[in-house]
This record gives sequence, structure tokens and C-alpha cells, in this order.
Amino acid sequence: KKTGIRTSLSSLYEAISNTSSPAVKFIRTRVERMSERWIQAGLKMRQSSNKTVSTQMRVLLYPGALAGNVGQHFEAMVERGGPLGELVQWADLSVCLTILGHDLTFSTSKHQLHSLIGAAPGRGSCPIQRPLTFDLIYTDYHGLAHLQGAMGLAFQHYQCRFRILDSFGTEPAFNFPSYARSHGFNTLWGSWSLQPLQYMTMFPHTPDNSFLGFVSEEAVKKELREDEFKPEGYKKDKIAVVYGKQDYMWQGKSGYVKVISEELETHATVYQPHPSTLPSFIKNHGLLTQEHFLGLLRRAKVFVGLGFPYEGPAPIEAIALGCVFLQPKFDPPHSSENNDFYKGKPTTRQISSQHPYAEEFIGKPYVWTVNVTNKTDIQEAVKAILSTEVKPFTPQEFTCVGMLERVHGYITHQNFCSKSVPTWPPESALRMHLGPLGQSCISVCRRSSLLCEPALFYHLNTPAAFTRLGLACSSTVQEVNHMFPSYSPWGRRCGLQQEPLLFSCAGSDSSHRRLCPCRATI
Ligand code: UDP
Repeated sequence: KKTGIRTSLSSLYEAISNTSSPAVKFIRTRVERMSERWIQAGLKMRQSSNKTVSTQMRVLLYPGALAGNVGQHFEAMVERGGPLGELVQWADLSVCLTILGHDLTFSTSKHQLHSLIGAAPGRGSCPIQRPLTFDLIYTDYHGLAHLQGAMGLAFQHYQCRFRILDSFGTEPAFNFPSYARSHGFNTLWGSWSLQPLQYMTMFPHTPDNSFLGFVSEEAVKKELREDEFKPEGYKKDKIAVVYGKQDYMWQGKSGYVKVISEELETHATVYQPHPSTLPSFIKNHGLLTQEHFLGLLRRAKVFVGLGFPYEGPAPIEAIALGCVFLQPKFDPPHSSENNDFYKGKPTTRQISSQHPYAEEFIGKPYVWTVNVTNKTDIQEAVKAILSTEVKPFTPQEFTCVGMLERVHGYITHQNFCSKSVPTWPPESALRMHLGPLGQSCISVCRRSSLLCEPALFYHLNTPAAFTRLGLACSSTVQEVNHMFPSYSPWGRRCGLQQEPLLFSCAGSDSSHRRLCPCRATI
């Protein structure tokens, strides 16, 4: 069945009508608040492109973090300062798929999952497998385990239809079980043998995964009438808002916050059931609804990161509303090796600040990353921020149109059920690069303003690729190794990849020069 852009969200409201769940209520309120922007973006996309007609997908959305025992805990925390970033993403994904015309089922119940996709009870202990009626299932790591329980043997057969919302990302070395076990990449998560591109991240962490993202706020309500917008609209009060919904996030940060409060009236949105443990000079509003929180950011000049939570949506919203984001630098960087939060996460990433995306891809004048143990550094940053006028800024990838185009691209082109070599993007997009020792293809491609594209690894995993790069191999081996294809200058050894699941943009070590499949960034 063919489908096109929808201009009504009524089918989505039916799918998310369970208002007894605080999490679903958060999702629904967000969808309602942003509905007009999404519909306008859909219309814009329909006008500007003739490729918006596509095959209608039957899609199941199953946020496993909201189901079962884990779900009970998550739900209990929604109104007490618990994480909301995942909910932001589920809300935006479900609107996006609705606008693109797909057919959605939304469930947060393990019990319902069984009736939607489970095997039918058969005779004795032998359940009858039913064909899966969904073309795509979006879930998360918790949900994967539930799906496995419900589907039994069919799980493996259908896993190519899964998409996993995975905020922090899963690198290939952690995804392939036997390799992960024997090479020290075994973690709490990981090891499901999916295609790495089936994992969808909150920010563009590694191109080995698909960047899903979310949609940020907008300073101008009327998206289409920017000409009407006067600079007065950006007028800011001399206030700072501290980023951190729970008071444990403030521990050890009072000196830093004090320095800021000497220059700006300092506000917070900390959930507080008990008498306040916050410094007396802080104006705490308690946890706010998203609408009121964003209203506060509209008035604020600075959004102050305390170091936790890591890599959330709030700093992107703050910058979109004209705030400057001031955040701690981490030196040495945080990682799964030295940090409890990242421990067990399937990534080798080195987290150089609270929000590396904001630091690297946005930067000054919107983002200031400072050593918060140095009073002078903080004072100088605050002074510089106060003397600079900064306009609201939203990276294109965090707008409604940006997300619609991206998700439409994934749905149209990503097919993990086909056994043939991926044909998207086409081989003509390949820009082959040879990296220096110790560098991953993520940084090799980025240095040339390009992007590592894992689907193109197939085209350079051949002896001919080494020749084209002017490398004379004295020997060529084929191995299961996430550094391969690569070149080792000692003995001029060339290595080809034997296991396609281990093609990795993220892998790097000091004895291999990686062969990198780069492409232009769009
Ligand atoms: N937020 C909110 N009320 C508040 C503070 C934040 O609704 O008092 C929202 C905010 O708009 C953002 C979401 O919570 O979209 C997630 O915020 P954060 O970046 O803190 O990520 P988290 O750690 O919650 O995943």
C-alpha cells in the first residue's frame, strides 16, 4: 500500500491514549505542543520533494524501558526528576513516522507484546509460530529481551526488522558476541549480533550506528515567518538556569554555581520532596512541565551544566532558545574505563565534556566548555558570555524537516533483511582515505570534512583497494578483526575483514592504519 505525508495526528493520538502512565502522558503532551510545527514541516517537505510517496510500513513502537519491572521504576521517576531524554525521542519518532504516513502501533505492555507478536499456544509444549505482522519494530535494549521472550525461535528470523533506540550507541566490537567475549568487549548490553546500523542514537556518536536524534525547540513560534522576527524577541533577563533535575547532580559543584550566581540571578528546576539542600541563593522552581521549563529558558541568558546528565537534549533546546550553554570540561575524559555511568556501555568513546556534541559541533559563542575547578576560568567565561549577544541557533538535523528527511531516508533505503551487499549510499559516494596510526575512521573522515560510511566498507575490503592507495603488501591476511581493513607498516602487512558485522568506523589502535570509507556529509 502506498502512502504520503499526513496532515493530521489523530491516528497517533489514538495509539497513545493511555493517560494513566506518566511517561505516555509526557509523550502525548509533547506531541500536542509541537503538532503544528510538525504538520507545517510535513507540508513543506511535500512541496519541495516529489519523493514523499512511499510504501506504507506497519510499525510497532515498543519502548521496553516503560514495560515490566524496569518500566514501573521508570514511570515512578518521570515526575521526580528521572530521565526524560528517551521520552523526548520516542515522542518525536512517533510523530515523525505518523507524518510520513506509516501505520503505528504503540505498546508499553509485555502482556500486550505477547498478543501482538508472540507465538500462538499450540498443542502441548509446542507453540505455533505466526508470521510477524509488523514490517518494523522500534524498541530499546530492554525491549530486545522482551521480544526474544515473546517470539522464541522466530526472534532470529525477524531480527532484521528491529530498530533499537540506544542513546549512547553500540560500537561493532561490542555487538558481535564471540569477538566481544574473546577481545574484552563484553558488556552488560551489546552482543545481540544485529547490524550496527540497526542501533539508533540520540546524537551522531559513531556513524556505525544510525543517528536518529530528536527535534529541538524553536525561538520563533511561526516557523514560516522569520522576516517578522525582531531582535527584541531575543531579549534576555540576566538569569542563569542550572541543568540538573535531582539534587545529587549538584554535589561538589557549589563553588562553581556560586561564581555564576555572583553575576546572574540563578534558577533551578530540581525535584525536591524534602527541605531544600540547595544553596540559599538559588531560586528553585521544582521540576517543571516541559512547557514551563522551556518558558524559563526563553528568558535565560545562560544554561549551566553541572557535569551530569551526560549528552541529553536540554542543552540543544537551551541553545535553540538563545541561551549560551556553559559546561564542565572533563580532563581526563570520562569513559567506560573510569566512570560508573559509562561502565558497561558498549562504547569506547572518550567523553571530553558533559556534552561533546555541543562542544564539538556547535562550540563558541553558543557553547563554553571550561575547567570548573578554576574560579578565574569560570569568571572569564561568564564575563565573555555576558558581553556577547547570541542568537537562537538550531542545527538543521534537530529541526522537524531535518528529522523527517532523515527518517524517510532510513525507511526507504535501510534494508537489513536483504543478504546482498548494501547499495545505499551508492559506490560513487565513496572517498577512500588511509588513516595515520592510532586514528579511527570517524576522525580520519572528519578531518577531511567527510563522514565515515560503514555501508561502503564492502567496496574497499579488497586487495585492489590497497593497490589504489599505493600500498605494496608483502602479505595479505583475512581475519575477524574490527580494525580491518587496515595496513600495518611493520612488515607491510595488509588485513582484510572476514566478518562484515565487524566493519567499524570507531575502531583504532596504535599498530594499524585504517582504510576508511568516507563520503560527503549530507
Ligand atoms: N525538562 C522538563 N522539566 C524540567 C527540566 C527538563 O520537562 O524541569 C525536559 C527538557 O525539556 C528535556 C527533557 O526534560 O527535553 C530531558 O532533559 P535532559 O537533557 O535533562 O535529559 P535526561 O537526562 O532527562 O534524559
